Amino acid sequence: MKTRYLIASVLAALVASGCQKETTSTSTGSTGSAPPSSTAPAVTPAAQAPAAPTPAAPRVIEITGNDQMKFSVTNIEVKVGEQIKVVFTNIGQLPKEAMGHNWVLLKPGSDVNAFSAAAMTAREKDYIPDSLKDQIIAHTALLGPRKSDEVTFTITAAGEYPFLCTFPAHAMAGMKGVLVAK
Ligand code: ZN
Repeated sequence: MKTRYLIASVLAALVASGCQKETTSTSTGSTGSAPPSSTAPAVTPAAQAPAAPTPAAPRVIEITGNDQMKFSVTNIEVKVGEQIKVVFTNIGQLPKEAMGHNWVLLKPGSDVNAFSAAAMTAREKDYIPDSLKDQIIAHTALLGPRKSDEVTFTITAAGEYPFLCTFPAHAMAGMKGVLVAK
């Protein structure tokens, strides 16, 4: 009898703790059930919050590529140490196999034409050959029409950093530019 009572009370405790857990997670999810006294102080820090996180956000540079093999931006100026987020969008309509685009930033002094020529053979790597990866600072994926990708990086030394689309012949057709870091 005593053992049975023990089991029963253990079960009751388990059920109770289970219920409690559920109650806890429910009240966390819905802020409406929180007492007004805990809601009121939360508003004050939130009002001060916007000033603090802003400096940490990277500067966003939006670039598009089109069916005419042109970047919308061919000259970018950044500060050394500044965090940059390039958001690249292929705004063309031709299929990726015929008119794919990427945005590839190279180290200063890199030869864009030589890079483009070498990348041509790396179709299975989306024209980012492993053998040339040490020349790359940052790059997006190769994009088909209406696709977008982004890459975040920080330039640590002043200089002129060439960028290009490595899809065959695009750089030679003018799909390239320069990022200048000061
Ligand atoms: Zn391209």
